[in-house]
Amino acid sequence: MTPKEQYDALYERSVEEPDAFWLEQAQLVDWQRFPKQALQYEKPPFAYWYPDGQLNLCHNAVDRHLEARGNQTALIWVSTEVEREQRITYQALYRQVNEMAALLRNLGVGKGDRVLIYLPMIPETVVAMMATVRLGAVHSVVFGGFAAHSLASRIDDATPTVVMTADAGMRGGKVIPYKPLLDAALEHAQSARPQVVVVNRGLDPDLKMGEGDTDYHSAVAPLAGVEIPPEMVASSDPSYILYTSGTTGRPKGVQRDTGGHAVSMIASMKYIYGVGAGDVMFSGSDIGWVVGHSYIVYAPLLVGATTVVYEGIPIRPDPGIWWSMVEKYKVNCMFTSPTAIRVLKKSGPDYIKKYDFSSLRWLFLAGEPLDRQTHAWVSETLGKPVVDNYWQTETGWPILSNFAGLGLMETKFGSPCKPSLGYNIRLVDSQSGAQLGADVKGALMIQPPLPPGCMTTIYNNDDGFVETYFSRFDEPLYATFDYAMYDQDGYYFIMGRDDDVLTVAGYRMGTREIEEALCTHPAVAEAAVVGVKDEIKTQEVVAFVVLTGGLDNPGAESLRDVVSKEVGPIAKPRDLYVVSGVPKTRSGKVLRRAILAICEGRDPGDLPTIEDAAVLDVIREAVGTG
Ligand code: ATP
Ligand code: MG
Repeated sequence: MTPKEQYDALYERSVEEPDAFWLEQAQLVDWQRFPKQALQYEKPPFAYWYPDGQLNLCHNAVDRHLEARGNQTALIWVSTEVEREQRITYQALYRQVNEMAALLRNLGVGKGDRVLIYLPMIPETVVAMMATVRLGAVHSVVFGGFAAHSLASRIDDATPTVVMTADAGMRGGKVIPYKPLLDAALEHAQSARPQVVVVNRGLDPDLKMGEGDTDYHSAVAPLAGVEIPPEMVASSDPSYILYTSGTTGRPKGVQRDTGGHAVSMIASMKYIYGVGAGDVMFSGSDIGWVVGHSYIVYAPLLVGATTVVYEGIPIRPDPGIWWSMVEKYKVNCMFTSPTAIRVLKKSGPDYIKKYDFSSLRWLFLAGEPLDRQTHAWVSETLGKPVVDNYWQTETGWPILSNFAGLGLMETKFGSPCKPSLGYNIRLVDSQSGAQLGADVKGALMIQPPLPPGCMTTIYNNDDGFVETYFSRFDEPLYATFDYAMYDQDGYYFIMGRDDDVLTVAGYRMGTREIEEALCTHPAVAEAAVVGVKDEIKTQEVVAFVVLTGGLDNPGAESLRDVVSKEVGPIAKPRDLYVVSGVPKTRSGKVLRRAILAICEGRDPGDLPTIEDAAVLDVIREAVGTG
């Protein structure tokens, strides 16, 4: 069978006989009690996968591998911030996880309790996640470096028994204090004061420990060798809470189950990422985001692979750093964001080309639209397949992807390929909700029940879950809030976010289409487009472009012409500004709503996840409101 035939057969079964299909996939997991039933769906849209199954995630990610691969490296930690490298075997990970679980248990953490993890990219972060789920407790990892009030609101939402933090992290060579931020957050927080555990890395000479705060290293020392049996939980019991990136508004607290999560992680490694036991995976992301949860921590450990955990920025000491790691650690599968690749593109291909990638099978990219030009550029530069995959914090694993584990189907640049297993995708008219056929743009929806691994609810807010995601149309479909199209071959194209769709003189188009057109010009490294309110045309196109280093500025007029030629004269930007950067979230997503607010003379408001607020001034200056 060709990869396409294999995919077609597998996908078809996943949506036509979901019960049989997902029970079969459940065999990938080691259960305490193997489920007899795949799905309980009596209260739509709430889906309970493997309702009678019992398991423990940490047992599956750590203990399960001890016999066959206890001496294999589970985790390689590389820090270009503190100039260190450390390899941790599955056996050593098992030890550390047990000690931390013992510590957490001593501090009162039990089944169902929350542990908030506010730590930098260090091995202890992975250990803390594993220790938490070992106890049947629920972790809530908060991206390190969030300001105190963002942290406080998450503390109030999750009401953790314990908060884990460090004295400090580092970014680009600068020490970033963590503990003082946590102290400030606890001042703001309304909820009961949690126990605080501090991993003291010796980075902050002024570290202040409060009365009652626990020093991690001295507290685990006497626990060496302790074993804490994994607490078996029901498949539907929550494993973690994680907030969305906050690109379009207030972040939503996504809750994930245990059994569905385990199955989806292993199945995605097998079929999509093509990574198994003994392979090396490197995801250039942060554990505080969903890509980090799924593909730095859970999926690689669940399949017995080696995961590379990197503390540092992708351009220090130079933009070749990640690729030098691919060479050194013989990485088989790499995963990062289009944004990271665009940064590289600005620096030129030499930083990639000088390394040996013979170990690398493929590169996966997700998080933002991957424009055709960048897709082609990185494929060519690497000489390896580059796979665009589309998903969300909410789903935890791909909604659309090519399937490396089946041998890749044909790649179409600019397309994240086809629906992933169990995803019943529906493309509908964004006004009427009527189902659409090929080559027509519309809202990307998923017919519930959502497959295993997807969010089961918003933490503590079942009504919010239904209202937010299932009430867009009369028919209760899950809304991705993205705008898309598929072609005659069934390949999907994401056109941008729903609320970024532009209406210009009666025509509707995605911001992505215009950005994509601008990116076809070799001098353009990156583009962001917004639709500014206009009395006559409803909206006017305004574009911001960042130029490729070393090339001449082609001038606004010739860039406008590119859009006119690629998309049509109607899409031609009224204003086009060349800027040094566009505002982004810390996970690399363009904050179009902030750009739009500035263009319309409004205050961009609270942007808790912005990477660098100074870039807002770049936009203000460009449009003359600075
Ligand atoms: P929030 O929901 O809080 O506004 P967010 O949507 O950015 O933030 P995430 O869950 O991190 O939070 O991101 C998922 C979104 O990222 C998708 O809905 C989509 O808009 C975009 N995205 C992810 N992967 C791709 C991709 N391969 N192509 C195009 N867009 C993508
Ligand atoms: Mg979202």
